Amino acid sequence: MPKHQFQAEVNQLLTLIIHSLYSNTEIFLRELISNASDALDKLKYLTLTQEDFKGVPFAPRIDISFDTKDRTTLSISDTGIGMNDKDLEENLGTIARSGTKEFIQAMAADARKGAGLIGQFGVGFYSSFMVADTVEVLTRRIGEEKGWKWTSDGKGEYDIVEAPRDTSGTTVILHLNEAGREYADRWRVEEIIRKYSNHIAFPIHLHYTEKGEHGGTVEKDAQVNSALALWRRPKADLKEEDYKEFYKTLTHDTDDPLLWIHLSVEGALAYTTLFYIPSRAPFDLYRYDYQPGVKLYIKRVFITESEKELLPVYMRFVRGIIDSEDLPLNVSREILQKNRIMENIRTSSVRKILQELALLTKDKERYETFWNEFGRVLKEGVLQDFEHKEQLLELVRYKSTAMTGWTSLSEYRDRMQKDQKAIYYITGGRESGLRSSPLLETYKARGIEVLVMDDEIDDIVAGSIGKFMDVDLKAVNRSATADDLKTEEDTGRAAAIDPLIQKLKKSLGGLVKDVRASNRLSDSPSCIVVDEHDPTMQMQQIMKMMGNKDLPDVKPILEINPTHPIVTKLAAVSDEAVIDDMSRLLLEQALLVEGGELVDPAGFVKRLNRALEKSL
Ligand code: ADP
Ligand code: MG
Repeated sequence: MPKHQFQAEVNQLLTLIIHSLYSNTEIFLRELISNASDALDKLKYLTLTQEDFKGVPFAPRIDISFDTKDRTTLSISDTGIGMNDKDLEENLGTIARSGTKEFIQAMAADARKGAGLIGQFGVGFYSSFMVADTVEVLTRRIGEEKGWKWTSDGKGEYDIVEAPRDTSGTTVILHLNEAGREYADRWRVEEIIRKYSNHIAFPIHLHYTEKGEHGGTVEKDAQVNSALALWRRPKADLKEEDYKEFYKTLTHDTDDPLLWIHLSVEGALAYTTLFYIPSRAPFDLYRYDYQPGVKLYIKRVFITESEKELLPVYMRFVRGIIDSEDLPLNVSREILQKNRIMENIRTSSVRKILQELALLTKDKERYETFWNEFGRVLKEGVLQDFEHKEQLLELVRYKSTAMTGWTSLSEYRDRMQKDQKAIYYITGGRESGLRSSPLLETYKARGIEVLVMDDEIDDIVAGSIGKFMDVDLKAVNRSATADDLKTEEDTGRAAAIDPLIQKLKKSLGGLVKDVRASNRLSDSPSCIVVDEHDPTMQMQQIMKMMGNKDLPDVKPILEINPTHPIVTKLAAVSDEAVIDDMSRLLLEQALLVEGGELVDPAGFVKRLNRALEKSL
């Protein structure tokens, strides 16, 4: 029988696991128990839904045994679905999951983080090689005759041979290495199970020997977990520790969750939900092929963990379970997506999660942790979930010119000046650039607060808000926004420089949509803004990045500051060459300050040099 080669990614992973997780070897047991539990879930589902398997007795258990004397082996056995030779090759020789490369890179970059990510990513089986020189997997798939033995020392190759086995299920035998010896110990193993696997819903039996009454040894076995679906137990019976442990069993996360929401609903529809919000974002939060975090159970039978529609996409950071009493066991994906029962559970779940988040805002520090990790995803909700827009707007946080740290829209509203007409915000670049933008000059001078939105998606999200309660949200880089601030004095000043404006318009021609006198500048000579319904510069960049080829050619509006010395002096100039240069320079500097790109950098430098020369 020829030896099989591991897929290249498996080899890389094995190296990483062995070298970066050596300080936390105990997680191998959690991974193997979780695989056994998955295998039992799969068999349970088959026996309940498939005609062919309905007669098969389902006697779920996980058995752990070891030899205490030599401390050389540890084995984990399950009565689950089992594997045939093809399954073995596919499951224990390759990694099918997308994002493998990125995961390996992330782990190589930060080994400590890797320990938390490993379970999430689902490369659990390979962690056995941290504690074993050789791993054997003896297995037989349900409904098949032949049994198989998979063997490997984790060094590039594995072997599969036929090996008879009486019952279906799987036994993983670890031939322990030096570091693994400590796990051939009843108390050590029991301690680890309590820590990571106490809430596995199938009985875990530990086998050990004791001295007999009349000398010699007696074989014993004891169930070490409660084997109850935790979410079905009454809330009053559950302690904080129980919830935290279950979270870790469920997600393989090593950190405690930020909060959990446990709800049992009875009545026309009956279901239980237990949702968790992690304290750290998973590595694939922004990958489009992210792993969803909510598992669906029907009458305590595990159905799926890959259904992305159980909650809205913007709640993809939520972990947990939904257990329905009403859905049929053999529900298909298509049915699930259109099902009214599911829709009902989903809607109430969203409402409940948003309510809990609203409560969390009262605890500023913890809410900030949440916001830093998941705020960006929640903002997607403002765009996607019109039904809950109001609740979502209470949850979003922004930076502001009035303070450091985060603020909410309602806090801003409370701080508004008496005659202030709108909530103002600035978008379009990094925080430091935004804070020093000329567009804020008048607002600063008049002590009007402006929200500083430096997240790429803010432009689109904020633009879609429209109103918060009774107040309009307005972008300061939109032409009409500054009308709110206009005084009679401004109108007079604008009239005074009208002849200059006409000259600039003529000189700039098609480069701009319009040239106007500004009432929003105090220190700068010029700025650019966009017309009321035109896309902003940032929106255009995003559209370009998304491969949008036929973009409309959107031109900015140039505003000039009627009180700035450059402008007042320029009004007295009649040399057309100088006006041409200066009009371009006024436009180009405004573009640069806004983080835009110059169309003609060489021309800009020439114009600048001519102006510099004159000033000397
Ligand atoms: P994951 O559990 O995230 O899929 P693992 O590396 O832990 O990743 O396991 C790889 C695959 O091997 C599993 O998906 C499963 O198909 C198979 N497998 C592992 N252990 C068992 C087992 N005890 N019984 C049946 N299949 C198993
Ligand atoms: Mg696993």
